[in-house]
Amino acid sequence: MASFVAPILLLAASVTPALAFCGAHTHLDKRAEGEVPISTFSASGPTGPLLWAQLDPANSACADGTRQSPIDMVPGVFTMMSGRNMTMAFTDLPEGAEFENLGSTVEVVMEGLGSSMVLDGLNYTLQQFHFHHPSEHLDNGTTMPMEMHLVFMHEEAEVAVMGVYIDIADPESEQAPSTMLETIFSSVGEIAEPGTVTKTQALALTEVQGMLESGTFQRYSGSLTTPPCSEGVSWLVATQKLVLSRATFQNARSVLGFNARYVQGAPGERNLLQMFASPEIAPAENSTVAQNQTTLRRRWRA
Ligand SMILES: [Zn+2]
Repeated sequence: MASFVAPILLLAASVTPALAFCGAHTHLDKRAEGEVPISTFSASGPTGPLLWAQLDPANSACADGTRQSPIDMVPGVFTMMSGRNMTMAFTDLPEGAEFENLGSTVEVVMEGLGSSMVLDGLNYTLQQFHFHHPSEHLDNGTTMPMEMHLVFMHEEAEVAVMGVYIDIADPESEQAPSTMLETIFSSVGEIAEPGTVTKTQALALTEVQGMLESGTFQRYSGSLTTPPCSEGVSWLVATQKLVLSRATFQNARSVLGFNARYVQGAPGERNLLQMFASPEIAPAENSTVAQNQTTLRRRWRA
């Protein structure tokens, strides 16, 4: 634990203290013991993602970063990775875990509870997982009802996030609603107000581990999807989806509200806000952005 301290203090000193979402419980989050901080940003309006960079100079990457998340997961922007090539060691929690409402999302706190994974030979520990409605990434152009983000951190402050789409259970399908998700959201009504916290019932994380190991991940290098939009985040978007019953989804949505950042340009392209500020500098014709625009124009004509 001692090796955590120096990088945590150095990095935390330069960013906004009350962080939520992708940054909570990582080196970017600095909170008092027992406190549930309420986010100072939102997903829409004057504190929404078009203006995050204006909220704090530390958020500049939100407006000028070129590897921002979320993105449309179309072929060409990611590499595939088998779940069997990753070593996941998720721990079931018979005592449950803290479940808190940060205003910008609801989050299960996993810091110190022993779940981890190995990526590129580095050991990452699970800090928290939280939810977005609708999904932040697009699954090849399509939004999904929700997306879960499992946020991992390596001791040298590297961040990796697993994104898992959540769909609404189809009575015609064989896939049953996730026991872990149904358990978590059965207590979402207890944290309807931002700044509140409760405890979940026993959680079976190994159920989710088994699902993830049997599938594949779409991998790319992106950013936190919330301020300060820090880049260098290893994204692993699962192709296997979890499902929720319709009633549970509706309960979750009533507390989450809308909390997704708009879809960013493809990795390596200019930031969309910079393109907006300088429209005379159009993307190169052979760029992914230009190709996407052509595709969109075709779709709209159809
Ligand atoms: Zn997130």
